[in-house]
Amino acid sequence: MDMYLGEEDRMFRDAVRGWVAAEFPKEWCRELERREHEFPHAFWDKLTAFGAHGIGIAEEYGGQGGTIITQALFARELARTAAGLGWVWGVTSFSGSKAITFCGSEEQKQRFLPKIAAGELKTAMAFSEPGGGTDLLGGMRTTARRVEGGWVINGEKIWSTCANVADYLFLMARSNRDVQKRSDGISIFFVPRTAKGVTVTELPKLGMRCVASCSVHLDEVFVPDELLLGEEGKGWYQSTRTLNNERLMNAATCLGMLDGVIEDALDHMKTRRAFGKTIGEFQILQHYLADMAMWQTQGELLLMHTARLQAEGLPSATESGMAKVLCSEYVSKAADLGIQILGGMGYSAETDMQRYWRDSRLLRIGPISNEMARNMIAESMGLPRSF
Ligand SMILES: Cc1cc2nc3c(=O)[nH]c(=O)nc-3n(C[C@H](O)[C@H](O)[C@H](O)COP(=O)(O)OP(=O)(O)OC[C@H]3O[C@@H](n4cnc5c(N)ncnc54)[C@H](O)[C@@H]3O)c2cc1C
Repeated sequence: MDMYLGEEDRMFRDAVRGWVAAEFPKEWCRELERREHEFPHAFWDKLTAFGAHGIGIAEEYGGQGGTIITQALFARELARTAAGLGWVWGVTSFSGSKAITFCGSEEQKQRFLPKIAAGELKTAMAFSEPGGGTDLLGGMRTTARRVEGGWVINGEKIWSTCANVADYLFLMARSNRDVQKRSDGISIFFVPRTAKGVTVTELPKLGMRCVASCSVHLDEVFVPDELLLGEEGKGWYQSTRTLNNERLMNAATCLGMLDGVIEDALDHMKTRRAFGKTIGEFQILQHYLADMAMWQTQGELLLMHTARLQAEGLPSATESGMAKVLCSEYVSKAADLGIQILGGMGYSAETDMQRYWRDSRLLRIGPISNEMARNMIAESMGLPRSF
């Protein structure tokens, strides 16, 4: 990928790679992940010390600056050892930080971005509801009612990752029912997690265990006007930039996990012996690895292409969806083969392959399911909308 990166990006990538190798060894990540739903504050603090929370936040707001390429490089390098633990960084970085940057007022940027950059403020995204994540608008029952000085929110969100530790929930609600199109009348809010009427409950799950994903019950929660993000009723349209950015970051995270899978599979193939040989001498296992290398290269090319489009401000919604679909499917297949290559040890909690497999599996479902992403890719080719 080096030929697609400028000098500064290459230096940044190398610095992050060295730092991740030194600070986030796989054994430590494995250990943290075992403490189910216990937010890894030590991990967060290391990110803070490195200035990672400020990546992608403009320097005038206390951030490190950087483009989408910088963010993607960071997400990839972190996920190589951290896998789902990368979400400890990503959730605030992809949701709150971007939402404020893209939709916030100057006052909101001044108020929140320096704190996010300094690692003093965490956010979670609360869009999905029990009634549907793919058909988000059709399933949305959460409402925001206008009152003096603000809004009163009622409803139920599901799967909000890190909501248990977040200071604010980046939340979508219907603020107007009297609309022609269901994408109108939606607003986004920055809801304080400790506001009266907010109840957060952690949900058990297969992977991404280091970060809790939660249901959030909202019962007459008052949110003042200054915590409405962007324009009332336009939230659906205003959140698309944040969601496109998130899709690309998901692709980068998948690619990072794929790097980790290849690393571990290769290592095992060079050392494990059977029938008087190292297992890396068996052709079928070599083919598995060759497939992984091809997936890695394809994913990388699409990721860099899409990141460049986004960095140049060019349309990239379709490519972001493609990158998310391909990278999530590649890493999922690779981690599955990785388990096969490691044999029994692949299934063991003492190695990382099962962690890559569990954590990567989610990314075919969320934040947008791969079926829905394919629907949108097909629609962009001139076919009728299928949903
Ligand atoms: C661990 C975890 C963490 C999450 N974190 C967050 C978070 O932080 N914030 C947040 O807001 N959400 C989060 N989500 C929710 C996630 O975005 C949704 O799970 C995802 O959007 C899918 O929605 P759903 O689960 O309701 O599935 P459904 O929408 O019920 O879909 C079920 C199946 O039907 C398919 N389907 C639905 N409609 C169509 C169609 N038109 N064409 C083809 N197939 C279709 C889907 O692709 C899927 O295969 C998280 C989910 C999980 C599991």
